[in-house]
Amino acid sequence: MTSKFNSVILDIEGTICPVSFVKDTLFPYFLEHLEEYLSKIEFPLGNTTSNLQNAEFAGILDKFPTEYSCGKATLEKYIRELVKNDVKDPVLKELQGYVWKTGYNSGEILAPLYDDAIEAIKHWSVTLSGGLYIYSSGSIEAQKLLLSHVKISKSGHPLNVANLNGLLSGYFDTTNAGSKIQIASYRRILQKIGYGLETESQLKYSSVLFLSDNPAEVEAAIQAGMTSYLVYRAGNREIPHEIQQRVKVITNFAQLF
Ligand SMILES: [Mg+2]
Repeated sequence: MTSKFNSVILDIEGTICPVSFVKDTLFPYFLEHLEEYLSKIEFPLGNTTSNLQNAEFAGILDKFPTEYSCGKATLEKYIRELVKNDVKDPVLKELQGYVWKTGYNSGEILAPLYDDAIEAIKHWSVTLSGGLYIYSSGSIEAQKLLLSHVKISKSGHPLNVANLNGLLSGYFDTTNAGSKIQIASYRRILQKIGYGLETESQLKYSSVLFLSDNPAEVEAAIQAGMTSYLVYRAGNREIPHEIQQRVKVITNFAQLF
């Protein structure tokens, strides 16, 4: 069935990876290790020689407002408040990224991709003529980190880790493609992966398959001319009945083959 597609573009959370991974693994990991990371830092932050060993971490902390970054206890309380209130703070995002990178690299964090998604990624990497891509609202750096630490659990074998980045042709996030619910973003991606504006190229837009768990993203991709299916996984938000009538829903990538 996928032979009719030349290119495939994948969302991450809720599509190839459980949505609970961020909520139940990444966020708790950050909060559990925050105190330990802060304990390695000398305050006040400006003193670079005392924080030489942890310069990158100290440098990020130094970007928080001075009234909060003046002391360890005040700063820890401030960071926990940001997380608790789900504040979209760019410095917090950078700090979390640093802690998660360290966790991935130490092997403490492994990304639990769905087995059928891993199998499909392997298959597409060798069969698609127009490439396999990721489009996620997480940064490209975060996408690559996640995909380079994928948990592989085969029965009878010890836990294993795989790096899937070598199987991908490229990555898109909100900085190089735009908002995931806007039609223009999908048009931009089509152009960037080689489907131009001329008529014979536009005829090929539907040979590009986009898979996501978000109905608004799927509908934007369809309106841009792509083929797009909604992915429903255990733990995902229920799909409203009227959307199920408009778009095709799959629950396992094996249904595409
Ligand atoms: Mg998603």
